Amino acid sequence: MIDSFIEGNKIFLEKDFERKKERYMQLTTSQHPTVLWIGCSDSRVNPERITHCRAGELFTHRNIGNIVPTHDWNFATVLEYAVNHLKVQDIVVCGHSDCGALNALDVDMSKDSYIPLWINNACEAQIRVDERLGEAKTPEDKALRKREIEFENIRLQLEHLRLYPLVANAENAGRVKLHGLFYNLETGELSKIA
Ligand SMILES: [Zn+2]
Repeated sequence: MIDSFIEGNKIFLEKDFERKKERYMQLTTSQHPTVLWIGCSDSRVNPERITHCRAGELFTHRNIGNIVPTHDWNFATVLEYAVNHLKVQDIVVCGHSDCGALNALDVDMSKDSYIPLWINNACEAQIRVDERLGEAKTPEDKALRKREIEFENIRLQLEHLRLYPLVANAENAGRVKLHGLFYNLETGELSKIA
């Protein structure tokens, strides 16, 4: 597998790097991304690929479930650097269909040490949807519930973002805008979540 990466890199060098040499040379000493992208680690949801963005445009943080944790130094450091130093103008929380993290909310993960602790950051989304929709009995109801939880988790993580004073202050001052996006694996479409 790793050998295929080296081969793939040769294709990248030929078809991308060499053709856009000037841009890549600009990127050798600085970066000026305007967006912080918070997405899922899922292998099917590659931020640059689904947005057709170029190198240097997205500052990314990916984790299981596109979670915005409120007690995590790794995440907080990415956030602080993006907002205060890179001065990004937009922060995106991007969820997607068939997210394993959200599916796991319905599964017994008690044999795992870390996953239950992590996805606990998303369980409020499930609670809200179940309160709103009631019990899902039919396959259609279950599919709707799943999709609504995927949407609600994006809203929930945006709420978590605003719990950070550095984000709330930047948003109130008009320095940064927050956005929820949803990527549909079945259609390849990216859409805004209100
Ligand atoms: Zn996911």
